[in-house]
Order: sequence, then C-alpha cells, then structure tokens
Amino acid sequence: MRTIDDLGELRGQRVLVRSDLNVPLDGTTITDDGRLVASAPTLRQLAEAGAKVVVVAHLGRPKGTPDPQYSLEPVVGRLSELVGREVSFAADTVGEAARATVEGLAEGEIALLENLRFNAGETSKDEAERRAFAEQLAALADAYVSDGFGVVHRAQASVHEIAQLLPAAAGGLVQAEVEVMQRLTEDPERPYAVVLGGAKVSDKLGVIDNLIQTADRLLIGGGMVFTFLRAQGLEVGKSLLEEDQVEACKGYLEQAEAKGVEIVLPTDVVAATEFSAGAEHGVVPADAIPADRMGLDIGPESAQLFAEKLADCRTVFWNGPMGAFEMEPYAAGTQAVAQALVDITQDGALTVVGGGDSAAAVRQLGFADEDFGHISTGGGASLEYLEGKELPGLKVLA
Ligand code: ADP
Ligand code: MG
Repeated sequence: MRTIDDLGELRGQRVLVRSDLNVPLDGTTITDDGRLVASAPTLRQLAEAGAKVVVVAHLGRPKGTPDPQYSLEPVVGRLSELVGREVSFAADTVGEAARATVEGLAEGEIALLENLRFNAGETSKDEAERRAFAEQLAALADAYVSDGFGVVHRAQASVHEIAQLLPAAAGGLVQAEVEVMQRLTEDPERPYAVVLGGAKVSDKLGVIDNLIQTADRLLIGGGMVFTFLRAQGLEVGKSLLEEDQVEACKGYLEQAEAKGVEIVLPTDVVAATEFSAGAEHGVVPADAIPADRMGLDIGPESAQLFAEKLADCRTVFWNGPMGAFEMEPYAAGTQAVAQALVDITQDGALTVVGGGDSAAAVRQLGFADEDFGHISTGGGASLEYLEGKELPGLKVLA
C-alpha cells in the first residue's frame, strides 16, 4: 500500500485528503468526536510538511443535493482544536467557494470543503457520474490521500475514482487500521473470539461465513441474536427478527458445529414491553421470551458467560453492542463485554472494537480508547475486511 512518504515533497502542493468526519450530531453539537480525534494527526502531519491541505468528507445521508441539516460546518471548530491549526471552511464542494478557498490556501493551511454527498456524483451507481465528480475534485489538488477508513469499502468518487486521477496514497489512519486488520486475519494468536451484536443484522450475517473458518469462538448478542434463537426453534416475542435470515442462521449453526467453532448464545435476556427506558422490563430465560416482550439486552447470566468465554482469549474482535445500551436498563451486557476486553488487554491480548455505535458505547460507559488494543473508525469496512472482500478504496492504493 502506498503511503504519504511515497508522494515525495509536499511543500506547496495541494493535497486532497478524504477523511471520515461523520460524527453523530445533536443539532450542531458533536456527541462523539472519536472520528475527528482519529482524523486529526494526518491533517497535522500534512500541514507540518507544508502542504496546502484540502479536506473532503461526508456527513449523514443527504440525497445528493445541499441540505443544511447535513452541513459539515459544525465540525470545523472541534477539528481546528484537535489539529492545532485553524481550519477554514468552504460552503460548497467543487463550486465557486471551494475553488476560491483552495486558491487562497498558503503552505501549511487547511480547508474543509462542504459535505461531499451534497453532490449526486459522490455516491452515484453510475461509474461515469462518479468519475465526472472525481474529476472536479481532482482539479482542486496535486495529490490525494485516503484517510477515511470508515469509507474504504465504498466505491465512491472521493474514495475510489479519485485515486485513479491523482498520485494517491494511504494516510496514517488507514495505514494503522489496515495493519490491525492484517493482524486479525493473518495468523491471529489463539484462542481468537469474535463478538457480534448491534442492530444491522443482515449486514453483519455475511461475515459469519468467513469467521467460522477463522475464529475459535463466536459470541452473539444484540439485535441479531434473536434470528439465531429463532433458528433454534425458540419464540422471540417482539424482538428484532429477520425472518428471511433464519435458514441462513441454521446453516451457520450447523457449519460451526462441523468445524468445531463454538457459537455462544445468551441463555437469558432482558425483555421489555417496548423500546424505551421506562418500559416494564425484566430478565427471562432465552427459551421463554413472552410474546408481548422484546429482548433489549443479554441477561446477567449470559453477561457472565460471555465474560468467561473471553477471559482466556488472546485475540478478540468486537462489533455491535450487546443491547440497546443507550438506555441505562439495557447497558449491562455491553458493559460486561467491554470490561472483559479491558481485562484481557491488560494481559497483553489484542482487542479490537469496530463500529460507530460500539465505539460510542465504550466511551459512554466510561472506558478510554487506550483501554483497548484498537478502536476502529470503520464498522462496515472492518467487517468487510474480515469477510475477505476486496475493499475498493484499498485496492486503488495497492
Ligand atoms: P455498530 O454501529 O457498532 O456497527 P449497529 O449500528 O449495528 O452497531 O447497532 C447499534 C445499535 O443496536 C444500537 O443503537 C443499539 O441500541 C441497537 N441494539 C442492540 N441490541 C439491540 C436489541 N436487542 N434490540 C434492538 N436494538 C438493539
Ligand atoms: Mg451503527
């Protein structure tokens, strides 16, 4: 993979950096700045090298046209603080404002352009449209640095097409993330466990196929667990359920058994009458979820079981909270898994947390990034890497 060093002398060069600044916002208040913290070092490094740094990124899912609620402007202040230099802002991406802003940059100065996804070409399914937008972006720069690990699994103009138009290299964040993914996929120290949870069930089931070939243990919680419980013939009440994936889950359970991979499912769950913190809730056995209740966390017995199954592991990858952790009554399972990872990290195990909500969860529960081996900024990207897929944004940097 080409790195920034391969780009040669950068002083006076306009360097377009694709960062992942897609932070959760409450109005214009950043509720978790993890992705900004992770993005800052590369921007600082380029500025210190004398480059004219042009940062591009997306926020949320606007529909290919400007939409003020998705403006990137609210991140400018915090990003400036973290980089230690003032970041200026252009109110469009490839228009008048962007051109003038880039033209005005002196060596070592940084500008952030408006949300890439205000332009339909960024995520267009039509390669020619993406290419046309990438050409407009490329006209703003002399070199390209890919530093948004959270988007490298996307074939998008600012990730994929642009790397074919300018001298291109991976930034330090993408480099560091890929190194960790390599450690997970190339001969991980064993026992190697993967903990899966969260709500994006069908997105995450695909990775299980591959994990059955590589991991020793698979611990499943969160919203996806109910499709597995259903596959075992259990009733799951009003819990999250992907009916059309039940057969696939049956297959995974059989495959795992044949391979000698241990699949650990909860034996009890916290079940509530509705998806709210104030709902009536209680612990029930996993094989006796009442028809009018939904499972919103793994139960205390399961939390202990999961912690025990992690205690002797030397490598753990964790994606997806064990429950609806945002609400206090359903946070204990996620807390227990986080604590188990912190404990083995202290004993020298490699622990990796991937996924936006998973990273937010460990921070919300009071853990520090340093308590884990690595907190990945890319949930989808790290899962696809583990699946063994070729990631478009990495392929173009090879
Ligand atoms: P990540 O961003 O880490 O990849 P996801 O986006 O897949 O994770 O899932 C995170 C969300 O899953 C959280 O908002 C959490 O509330 C929700 N969640 C976890 N367990 C459950 C459950 N049992 N029922 C419904 N939602 C759940
Ligand atoms: Mg998420």
